[in-house]
Amino acid sequence: MPSDAPTDGLSAWADIDLDAIRDNVARLGELAGDADVMAVIKGDAYGHGLVPVAGAALAGGATYLGIAQLGEAMAARVAGVTAPILTWLFPPGADLVSAVRADLTLSAGAPWALAEIAAAARATGQTARVHLKVDTGLGRGGAWRDDLAGMLVDAARLEAEGVLDVEGIFSHFVYADAPDHPTVRAQQETFGAILEDAERAGLHPRIRHLANSAATLTNPSARFDMVRPGVSIYGLSPVPDIGGPPHFGLREAMRVVARLINVKDCPAGQGVSYGHQYTTKGDTRLGLVPLGYADGIPRHASGVGPMQVHGRRYTVAGRVCMDQMVLDLGADSPAVAGDEVVLIGREADGEPTAQDWAAAIDTINYEIVTRLGPRVPRRYLGGQ
Ligand SMILES: *Cc1c(COP(=O)(O)O)cnc(C)c1O
Repeated sequence: MPSDAPTDGLSAWADIDLDAIRDNVARLGELAGDADVMAVIKGDAYGHGLVPVAGAALAGGATYLGIAQLGEAMAARVAGVTAPILTWLFPPGADLVSAVRADLTLSAGAPWALAEIAAAARATGQTARVHLKVDTGLGRGGAWRDDLAGMLVDAARLEAEGVLDVEGIFSHFVYADAPDHPTVRAQQETFGAILEDAERAGLHPRIRHLANSAATLTNPSARFDMVRPGVSIYGLSPVPDIGGPPHFGLREAMRVVARLINVKDCPAGQGVSYGHQYTTKGDTRLGLVPLGYADGIPRHASGVGPMQVHGRRYTVAGRVCMDQMVLDLGADSPAVAGDEVVLIGREADGEPTAQDWAAAIDTINYEIVTRLGPRVPRRYLGGQ
């Protein structure tokens, strides 16, 4: 939705502040010094909307976009995003011919991937741009150093033949959110050793990258040629114990608002919602919020998810249902049907935040924003 779209009559919506995303990317660019910024916009831009966020991130100075899943990267191209895009998750047999034609940069973290990318390049007659993915200790994607030797030789040969351009090489941290954890230094040392292996094999990748948001914010020695922040471009802190968004000069881009669709008086002692897990303590008023787990509100947030109405903070009364949940507004609440309920806002404005929801159910802010479902329309502010 455009920013001037009326919200009258909507059950709920999410305002996405594209200027905040632009400014956050610019801020991360400052913190990154001479390194470039790849804005990570996987998972529908962490729930914020792939294509509008791509534009805002590029306006903030990002030179590359990172999109984990090949299908989502292709969707960005189809939607007209022309900037460089790195994609790193696809299975054997994926349509890499289309990917090469779409000028996507493909990650190769195993011999089969290198072979399939080379075959796709030959089929198109184009040189395929590749970033080698190495596992420096995360124990997830990418090739271990010991298994990389053959891939480096093959990649150098394919590059000499003009089949591949090995533009980059990258890895990912285990514990970037704990900057003093010994794995951080160990992974950087392994990455450095692998870069030397690559040079010895005749490869000279121009874009070496390792730092996610947490490392970008806390660890200048991990910058290399490009940083790869995701969650921080949306104004969320990957290290809430160290500091929230304002501490890092970031601001939250997503604001989720619902409208009360029913407010009714209720006597003391009334059980509320399925299972009557909550019982009213005195005469009160109940407000019905038309969002539920079908919209990505965690059912685990029953009893604990924070919301704000008329400047007052509440938590979900009783269970979160599929499409709705209840607030015990108190007998003196001025709220009426149609009034706004803030679910996710900005720490600096004293509103409940994605981080508050995450803390309430023992998860991370990433999951809270990413899971917000497609039934909640996004309204895009700024970005002109
Ligand atoms: C998701 C992801 C990122 C971004 O991580 P944040 O913690 O959100 O900054 C960077 N690199 C890779 C490989 C990722 O999968």
